[in-house]
Amino acid sequence: MPDYQEQERAFLKKAAALFDADAVETIRHAVEFAEAAHEGQKRDSGEPYIIHPIAVADMLLDMNLNPSAIAAGLLHDVLEDNAGITFDVLKREFGIETAELVDGVTKLTKTSLSEHTTKEEEQAETIRKMFLAMARDIRVIIIKLTDRLHNMQTLEYCRSDKRVRKAQETLDIYAPLAHRFGMGEMKSQLENLCFYHIHPDEYTILEKQVEHHRKEREDVLNSNIEMIRELIQGAGIEILDLHGRPKNLYSIYRKMQNQNLTFDQIYDLVAIRIIATSEADCYHILGLLHNHWKPLPGKIKDYIAVPKPNMYQSLHTTLMSEHGFPFEVQIRTREMHEAAEYGIAAHWKYKERREDSSDLDNKLNWLRQIMDWQSEVKDAKDFLETLKIDFFTEYVFVFTPKGDVFDLAAGSTPVDFAYRVHSAVGNKCSGARVNGKMVPLDSVLQTGDIVEILISASMPGPSLDWLRFIKTQQAKNKIKAWFRKEYKEENIIKGKDMLEREAKRLGYTFSQLVKPEWTLALFKRLTLTTVDDLCAAVGYGGISTQQVLSRLVEEYKRENKSEPDIEKRPVMPERANRKGEGIVVKGQENMLVRFAKCCNPVQGDAIVGFITRGRGVSIHRSDCPNLAGLMEDAGRLIDVEWAKTEVKASYKARVQLNFREREGFFSDLFRLLDTLHIHPDYFNTKKDEKAHTTTLNITFDISNTEHLESVLKQLRKLEGALDVFRSNPA
Ligand code: MN
Repeated sequence: MPDYQEQERAFLKKAAALFDADAVETIRHAVEFAEAAHEGQKRDSGEPYIIHPIAVADMLLDMNLNPSAIAAGLLHDVLEDNAGITFDVLKREFGIETAELVDGVTKLTKTSLSEHTTKEEEQAETIRKMFLAMARDIRVIIIKLTDRLHNMQTLEYCRSDKRVRKAQETLDIYAPLAHRFGMGEMKSQLENLCFYHIHPDEYTILEKQVEHHRKEREDVLNSNIEMIRELIQGAGIEILDLHGRPKNLYSIYRKMQNQNLTFDQIYDLVAIRIIATSEADCYHILGLLHNHWKPLPGKIKDYIAVPKPNMYQSLHTTLMSEHGFPFEVQIRTREMHEAAEYGIAAHWKYKERREDSSDLDNKLNWLRQIMDWQSEVKDAKDFLETLKIDFFTEYVFVFTPKGDVFDLAAGSTPVDFAYRVHSAVGNKCSGARVNGKMVPLDSVLQTGDIVEILISASMPGPSLDWLRFIKTQQAKNKIKAWFRKEYKEENIIKGKDMLEREAKRLGYTFSQLVKPEWTLALFKRLTLTTVDDLCAAVGYGGISTQQVLSRLVEEYKRENKSEPDIEKRPVMPERANRKGEGIVVKGQENMLVRFAKCCNPVQGDAIVGFITRGRGVSIHRSDCPNLAGLMEDAGRLIDVEWAKTEVKASYKARVQLNFREREGFFSDLFRLLDTLHIHPDYFNTKKDEKAHTTTLNITFDISNTEHLESVLKQLRKLEGALDVFRSNPA
């Protein structure tokens, strides 16, 4: 019996174990159909062509794709290779789902190559097609990647010039795409094969070195694994898997190239992988390991709380073993592991299982990832243009300066973006830069914008004004939540007092002005409900007394026609001095200083002062777009600088945190630390089984005591935190 018949039998058997009889029949039909279509065709290896589509479909089975997609895998080359078979034939024989998948893969494959096409143009075209295909059905890309993987596995039969070109293309486009889609297994197989074909000598040498090294260290590795097993068992934690896994050769090679290292300088050749049953266990295990071995500073990575852009989740740490060499450990749950191996394919499977799976949801998720991916691929100039196709008009996609992508409702502003990043960012948002330029906070964001939020510690909180222009419900809810918290008695009293005094200065009494019919419009605009709310908002500085009273005075005047008895009133300085603190105006003392609203400088920015008429010096950032206009009046610019505060230093702080066990505590903790820009370089935990509490010790860099106090304050707010204090290093 020829080889391919053996392969076919095994494949059908595997399918029969997974699907019902109808589905298996469809798949069998697809095998026979493809066999007939490719009759007489040969692979470069000389084998019958059918081995290729079966191999592709077999890998798709392993990725848990559904029967229609498996059939499409079997049929993926029939439209391209056989003029006689049309889309309609496939639709009739296999249904619309399969026919469209095959059509999608075929369109990706066909190139409109002319002799004038440059490599860059070709690449841009491929990327554009990938995007369009993806917008239709993500499985097109999964099938295409699988097709490419099998072609790479059999590349040795190819002519050598074609071989290197294919491998280079795979390395440039397909491997990064697999990476972006979180398909770790696919990516590492593709990369290793490319590496082998592009640099065969380096590949062989490295392979030998790794093998030699592995044998040498095998005992140590095994004893570490055993020790880990004991620690975990001793703590009464159950795990699903624990094993050592050699790192991808290409990633070792690239590391040596990029960081100019010799083989001996690479220590993370093998990673020990632990599959735990819950997220909480992942953190507990990490704590156990850190109690036993010393972690290398800067090597603890929490991708559970802060997943990579491709949704990869895991805890990583590198430990120093007693034998004197470091080893890496990765800890994750089964779900995280599947997502790391199969990425988007695993996600797709999960989505499909859900009854209410929203198609748009899927597409948006893919789009986010492909946009991320294209930012790594150079020369795809027109790619963003493509993104503006009408399909996605309800959404805009914007980037952080680091390249993370966020989707927001069309019409969203920098404030919506800030709240999407984190409510702490939103609440302290003092300005925004879009594509490097300062913009007003109510500007409308466009797809492809790079948005940077400036935050200022001196911001009292969100502005009620924002509610007028923000677009997303998420931001609205967060702002309202913040206000609810601030509507405390003391703020009400303080605000009432401020309003009373200001009203008096204007020649009224506050109670005169707060007639329900006059406050109505104001309340509506600021989404407040009671006068107490209004007083509280003034009390904590969310709005100024002027904002409130000018409106009410207008109403009063309209009703009472006759002007009240107003004395000449001084022009009100807008909370000027308080806001200008921390600025030194050169050669001038006691100048009234305020920060320009157009660019909201924060401590540390390069700044310039502008002497205003009658309102002191306004402080602008030196890159403020408004400065250009002000420059014409150069005589009014003045040198200013930030007042010197204490010398900035960074030192290590160690903190102990006792907390009550609860699901999600660690994620919350690490998300919080991340928003505070705290990156722990040491961390261990100790569980008290009886009391259901855990003690955590953590070490990180801190700039001063004030900073530490504010971090401790935030930590104490964590749900479940019992006791948080600064401790001394053990
Ligand atoms: Mn193919």
